[in-house]
Amino acid sequence: MATMVDVDPRSSAVLDGIAAHITPQQFETWFRPLTLQFVPPDEVRIAVPNRFHQVWIERRYQTVVANAVRQLAGVTPRLVFAVNEALGAHLAPGRPEERDEFPAAEAEADAGGAGVAAVSQILNPDYTFENFVVGPSNSFCHAAAKAVAEQPGETYNPLFIHGNSGLGKTHLLQALCHLLQARRQKVVYLSCEDFTNHFINAIESGSLESFRYRYRHVDVLAIDDVHFLAEKDRTQEEFFHTFNTLYNQQKQIILSSDRHPKNISDLEERLVSRFKWGLVIRLDAPPLETRIAIVKKKARMRGVELGDTAAHYIAEHVKENVRELEGAVNRVIYLARLGGREVDTDLLHEALADLMPERSGTGPGLADVLRIVADRFGIRATEIQSRKQTKSVVYPRHLCMYLARVCTQNSLEEIGAHFGGRDHTTVHYGIRKVEKLAARDEDVKRVVEDLVGALKGCGR
Ligand code: ADP
Ligand code: MG
Repeated sequence: MATMVDVDPRSSAVLDGIAAHITPQQFETWFRPLTLQFVPPDEVRIAVPNRFHQVWIERRYQTVVANAVRQLAGVTPRLVFAVNEALGAHLAPGRPEERDEFPAAEAEADAGGAGVAAVSQILNPDYTFENFVVGPSNSFCHAAAKAVAEQPGETYNPLFIHGNSGLGKTHLLQALCHLLQARRQKVVYLSCEDFTNHFINAIESGSLESFRYRYRHVDVLAIDDVHFLAEKDRTQEEFFHTFNTLYNQQKQIILSSDRHPKNISDLEERLVSRFKWGLVIRLDAPPLETRIAIVKKKARMRGVELGDTAAHYIAEHVKENVRELEGAVNRVIYLARLGGREVDTDLLHEALADLMPERSGTGPGLADVLRIVADRFGIRATEIQSRKQTKSVVYPRHLCMYLARVCTQNSLEEIGAHFGGRDHTTVHYGIRKVEKLAARDEDVKRVVEDLVGALKGCGR
């Protein structure tokens, strides 16, 4: 049996983690026979002996399982269940009183989907309102989400949040779900892709009843990335009926998409119009001040206090996407911790250069830097590259080093080699020198800004 061989050692480690949080009896009943399979980046497949077992774990132990995985693997898992009847042989009989607690109608409806691998998405514990930085680009969405939390099903139904990727749609949706869950609402959150796949599975296995029951008997249905419905006629049709059922019962519907409903290609008109019944609002890219606050918050969540200069530098360089901004913060923290280094200009530059591969090859190169500086100072490029130490050459050479560091992808070694065969400490010294000069001399600062501007036009 596949389940008896090649069991991932992480599977037993997670099961141990779960065992630490529940009674031995509960563990014997529900977890002893299980095996877990890890599918990167964040999927954890759990083989269960039957649907009843699955539903029970989903209802009662989802958080325990998710926390155990998170502790081990550092990711918030998507739990995907698959029924493997062979596991039943190892199953300890469930305690009758636990089975009695199970609502009979739900058990029946859920069990109708035997064999279907149903998907449940777990909320990311970090995606809360507390962790969401509010600024001019998102305050309207934030306020609307808060308003929905106060009176679900009444204020804005549906709430439709759209905006480019990485601007916080999922974060806001989940923050709202967290809050509603805490207020004892029955919340189902999932991506539209999962909804679609679940629907297809349900058709194939003839378990539409159970599928429908699952999504129509909730207080709150949050579906992320509904642009995924584009051109999927049958799923649209099904979703239309789900929507109507919930809407008519004043159940809250929360949706997100990377574009306005009217711009989702081939979305049925009746869905477009329904999506607009409530409130359609857009998330925009945050301005600099908000980005700085986000950078600091994300760093703090990882136990690091970033200084103003560093936070400003990161926020200046990543403008359009908060996910990338967060990636930059992570990279900075990673490099600093890894090398036991200070968060200084060098480290920041290195961290960000790694994250912007699109710049390499298309941005300015060392030759551009050399040419532009030589032109500006009316000296020959070969002089800059020589070993000459006169003041008229040393300053432009230092400027070259600085500009190369800021505007190209080259390492300190490569920069040193290009500007006269200097080693990286000399380059480092040159860069610092320009930084200090620019900090106290407005003229130098203007020259630097000018040249950076000129270089931006190169190589693109
Ligand atoms: P989307 O769903 O719009 O693609 P996400 O919600 O996944 O974007 O956000 C991407 C990342 O950026 C997440 O880690 C989220 O926590 C973070 N993020 C986005 N906006 C904010 C904000 N205003 N404050 C804090 N974190 C944010
Ligand atoms: Mg998202």
